[in-house]
Amino acid sequence: MRSHYCGQLNETLVDQTVTVCGWVHRRRDHGGVIFLDMRDRDGIAQFVVDPDTAEAFANADRARSEFVLRITGRVRLRPEGTQNPNMPTGMIEILAKEVEVLNTAVTPPFQLDEHGKVGEEVRLKHRYIDLRRPDMIEKLRLRSRISHTVRAYLENQGFLDIETPVLTRATPEGARDYLVPSRTHAGSFFALPQSPQLFKQLLMVAGFDRYYQIAKCFRDEDLRADRQPEFTQIDIEASFVEESDIMGITEAMIRQLFQEVLKVELPEFPRMTWQEAMDRFGSDKPDLRIPLELTDVDDLMQQVDFKVFSGPASADDGRVAALKVPGGAKLSRKEIDEYTKFVGIYGAKGLAWIKVNERAKGLEGLQSPIVKFMENIVEELLDRVGAEDGDIIFFGADKARIVNEAIGALRVKLGADLELYTQEWAPLWVVDFPMFEADDNGRLSPLHHPFTAPSCTPEELKADPASALSRAYDMVLNGTELGGGSIRIHDQTMQSTVFEILGIGEEEAQEKFGFLLDALQYGAPPHGGLAFGLDRLVMLMVGAKTIREVIAFRKPKALPV
Ligand code: ASP
Repeated sequence: MRSHYCGQLNETLVDQTVTVCGWVHRRRDHGGVIFLDMRDRDGIAQFVVDPDTAEAFANADRARSEFVLRITGRVRLRPEGTQNPNMPTGMIEILAKEVEVLNTAVTPPFQLDEHGKVGEEVRLKHRYIDLRRPDMIEKLRLRSRISHTVRAYLENQGFLDIETPVLTRATPEGARDYLVPSRTHAGSFFALPQSPQLFKQLLMVAGFDRYYQIAKCFRDEDLRADRQPEFTQIDIEASFVEESDIMGITEAMIRQLFQEVLKVELPEFPRMTWQEAMDRFGSDKPDLRIPLELTDVDDLMQQVDFKVFSGPASADDGRVAALKVPGGAKLSRKEIDEYTKFVGIYGAKGLAWIKVNERAKGLEGLQSPIVKFMENIVEELLDRVGAEDGDIIFFGADKARIVNEAIGALRVKLGADLELYTQEWAPLWVVDFPMFEADDNGRLSPLHHPFTAPSCTPEELKADPASALSRAYDMVLNGTELGGGSIRIHDQTMQSTVFEILGIGEEEAQEKFGFLLDALQYGAPPHGGLAFGLDRLVMLMVGAKTIREVIAFRKPKALPV
């Protein structure tokens, strides 16, 4: 139906006759001449319809916003003074000869360039219109390029794209399953996969050696800005590999992706143990763009006569951490109150602080509601955090988990609010995760999934599961977990031991994962892999704030059964 996309028209086509199809972006009546800005997914071009071409003129005259037209005309240079150098098509216009109305449109719920005025709900309800906006088109186009580049890279590295079932048995990744009732087996259910984890491991047992898939995964979790219950993973697995192989291949993939799509050269990916990440940043996905660190002050706080601090400082599961913010003494009382509220979300009962106005003046130079309780250690404390005039020091004192979450989140918030970023992109690998985490009742659950290999023998694991480390690794970028994976258990005894520690009895293990336990007996090679969250990756690369901006359609409301 057409010869060109609107966005492709430019001065190289002057005097040529072209046909485009698209939507009326804007229609202007200029004293008998009608100007139509026509839009398609590639851009916008200006068409001029004059009354000499009577039929074309009549059709242009009845066209309204978002009508679908097919126009044929001759490309010509725009008259001097009417060019628009900001538009790729801004040097030319097309003198229309034929205008055909392919479809009409009722008045749209919002003008594309006035989308900001309507709420996101209206945009999502009329998503097909929202998706006509150049901004949305660009994001989805970039997403397509990202998938394409990833596929090309992995194919080049000898990975095979293999699909795995969607109607399946539960594949645990720590969330609830979506269940699909079976019509033919009344009372029975399928589960949608939380990831293709088990299948990719079976493919390794089969000998496929290198597998990938851009796979839909389903986890019944609450919505968050960077999470959707239905999402897409770049799922990868390889045989006869160790941690460094998978990390090397995937790091090179992300590096190449950034080069090709964004023309960005990512810096080095440092490796940091999970423990160090928690100690220094209170997070297993530290945002290394922010030059703030948590400092342990347990030993000092054990010496103060202030229960709120000395209690957690002496408790086994407690932590007192300080966060020094250079220049933070200028924060107002109101701002500090806001931050106190903020850490409350993470369970912190308060937020203590010391403002360092003038260190040389000793206690006089400090301003703080708590310093009177710690006069005996305050100098040492200030030395420890390297306090200088103008700084503020925040404190978290509670169970270590709460301090890490609260002060870790505060660090990220301060980084954003005070614009402390030192670089645009800060990637890293987090390694040496604990195998398990314990809930408040001491029940263990896998930190990743139960197929992750520990870095010790089954006997050692059994003897002290709580301190065992795993062979897992996460790739983190700007405080977001881009992907995570591990070397897997390929030995049946080890797999049974892990199930046992997790309290999964033999019968349950057989019923749920019998096929994996069986497969491990038939020559399973050492193997490992990783999965990236594609939605999050795209979100970071295009600078979007929510995943909804980088997926075409959101999940609709569920229907009653
Ligand atoms: N299956 C894991 C996940 O979905 C990734 C992996 O271990 O490869 O998070």
